[in-house]
Amino acid sequence: MSIKFEILKECRKTKARLGKLFTPHGVIETPVFMPVGTQATVKAMTPQELERLGIQIILSNSYHLYLRPGHNLIAQAGGLHKFMGWKSSILTDSGGFQIFSLGELNKINDEGVFFNSHIDGSKHFISPEKAMEIQMALGSDIAMAFDECTPYPSGKYQVEAAAQRTIQWAKRCKVIHHNLNQSLFGIAQGGTFKDIRIENANKLVELDFPGYAIGGLSVGEPKSLMYEVLDYTVPCLPQNKPRYLMGVGAPQSLLEGVVRGIDMFDCVLPTRNGRNGSLFTSSGKISITNAKFKDDFTPLDSKCQCYTCQNFTKAYLRHLYISKEILGSILGTIHNLYFMISLMKNIRSALLGDRLLEFKEEFLSNYLG
Ligand SMILES: [Zn+2]
Repeated sequence: MSIKFEILKECRKTKARLGKLFTPHGVIETPVFMPVGTQATVKAMTPQELERLGIQIILSNSYHLYLRPGHNLIAQAGGLHKFMGWKSSILTDSGGFQIFSLGELNKINDEGVFFNSHIDGSKHFISPEKAMEIQMALGSDIAMAFDECTPYPSGKYQVEAAAQRTIQWAKRCKVIHHNLNQSLFGIAQGGTFKDIRIENANKLVELDFPGYAIGGLSVGEPKSLMYEVLDYTVPCLPQNKPRYLMGVGAPQSLLEGVVRGIDMFDCVLPTRNGRNGSLFTSSGKISITNAKFKDDFTPLDSKCQCYTCQNFTKAYLRHLYISKEILGSILGTIHNLYFMISLMKNIRSALLGDRLLEFKEEFLSNYLG
């Protein structure tokens, strides 16, 4: 079975939609935030804890799993779900973004990318065909086409060439992809150039994917510019297919993405911040190691119902982080993921109740102060 996407309701005042995405491993309520499990684990979380938090889909990174432990070993284990003990849905990225951001690039041409591993310097080559082989072996529910992501800022010529190559590669991915239990999404590129973005999205849509991602954003450009790109790119994508904004996870950006018609998001931010002691609260982000929390015996966020906020104080959490105790990372990650999941739930119920813009205004005025 491949995926099925149902739109339950559309917002009258914005482009937001409430939906359900069905995969071979369950139902995902959209708009959704997907936590990142880079190395086939959402750091500091057991799969049981993720289930308790109500997480319906996670993202895992092909680049990392290809290098270590290897996609063939994971296939031998029965696929990624079995290997990592996760029963719900998984989306894998194609590795493109990591190759361009982590690997030591040797050469890129129309065939693919030659790079050295960031772990041991070993030489590798990934083509669109190879990226499909890896993701089919992993057996994720949603696979992503292999794309070329340009950094920000990049010149127009470079962005144009990468965008054209991304289309050629998307075609090749589609030809070779043959896992019927996996759906392949296309990725639209084009940097922050309006004409390239629109042309690229239109060409990608002609290839007819079951879902579309907008890539190459949140790579250092101002947020206002990212929202502008969404304003003119999202309308190029089919109304009845899921739309995924890659690598975006700041609470305010999720809201801005949802009102522009995005259904899916992923980002390492909540989990990475959770381990660093940078914690989301309804009145903004705080750094729990700050000296002012030394004898603060109140919960992290009095409005939060998560296990961390229900059972521990800021003073105790600060102590854990200062002492570099593992429990600090665990409790911080539980809270940050709960915060994101609650935000998305609140967005969905506001959408259902025709009060999304009111909710957005209220949330942002508390969160951004
Ligand atoms: Zn909490």
